[in-house]
Amino acid sequence: MNTWHIEPSLLDRYAEGRVPASAAASIEAHLLGCAGCRAVLAPAADADRLEAIWRGVTERVDAPRPTPVEWILLRLGIGDGTARLVASAPSLTVSWLTSVMLALGFALLAADSGPRGALVFLALAPILPVAGVAAAYGREVDPTYDVGLAAPYSTFRLLLLRSSAVLVSTLLLAGLAALLLPVAPWVATAWLLPSLALTGATLAASTRMDAAWAAGGVVVFWLSAVFSAYRSSGAPYAAFGMSGQLLCAGVLMFSLALLAARHHNSPLDLRRIP
Ligand SMILES: [Zn+2]
Repeated sequence: MNTWHIEPSLLDRYAEGRVPASAAASIEAHLLGCAGCRAVLAPAADADRLEAIWRGVTERVDAPRPTPVEWILLRLGIGDGTARLVASAPSLTVSWLTSVMLALGFALLAADSGPRGALVFLALAPILPVAGVAAAYGREVDPTYDVGLAAPYSTFRLLLLRSSAVLVSTLLLAGLAALLLPVAPWVATAWLLPSLALTGATLAASTRMDAAWAAGGVVVFWLSAVFSAYRSSGAPYAAFGMSGQLLCAGVLMFSLALLAARHHNSPLDLRRIP
């Protein structure tokens, strides 16, 4: 039980914020236990200021924490609305990137068994960004699909932004894993151009069909090309030689040209119309 109370004049000065911090601390300690002094203080408090403070607190508490990808995008100077829309892609979540790392880890284990094992890594690495792009945008896989449609973006622009983020993150992970490949340096980098070519082809095809179908077609074509090159020549890296790389460069440039042309010619994205 309190046997003393705070002077009303001191409470007035406290309400106006004109009390030193040490005195304010002991006033607050008393107020916590004394309903009488709180009742005296209440009319003196500035309601607008309290309201502003409370709003600030709830905004800070309720604000969603940015995901790691969103945090990086924000640091890169991308606007927060765009960063959230891009980072909400299912293939930019920690769980997706963890699966990518697991897949690369298993491919690395296989690579220890020799050239045929290394071929598993080379064939798999380009598929990862393709799968990521398919999961980055699509009616079936994206829980924020409708949000994306309602946002003031063309779906095309969103697809490109998300795909770039998926491509960069996957290439970084695959690049780190490739450092551990027990093969010659040219073999360890032979997956890079195919990754870009397959992703480009998937994106180009996605302008005309669902991204999942585009990705599926590209992956089937890629795997059959790699393994038929292996079977016909007997050399594990047959598909990754000079001619294979040139072919990939050609596919990449053709896909980019197609994307640029489609984007330029059709500012109205037909896929937005249900
Ligand atoms: Zn009191």
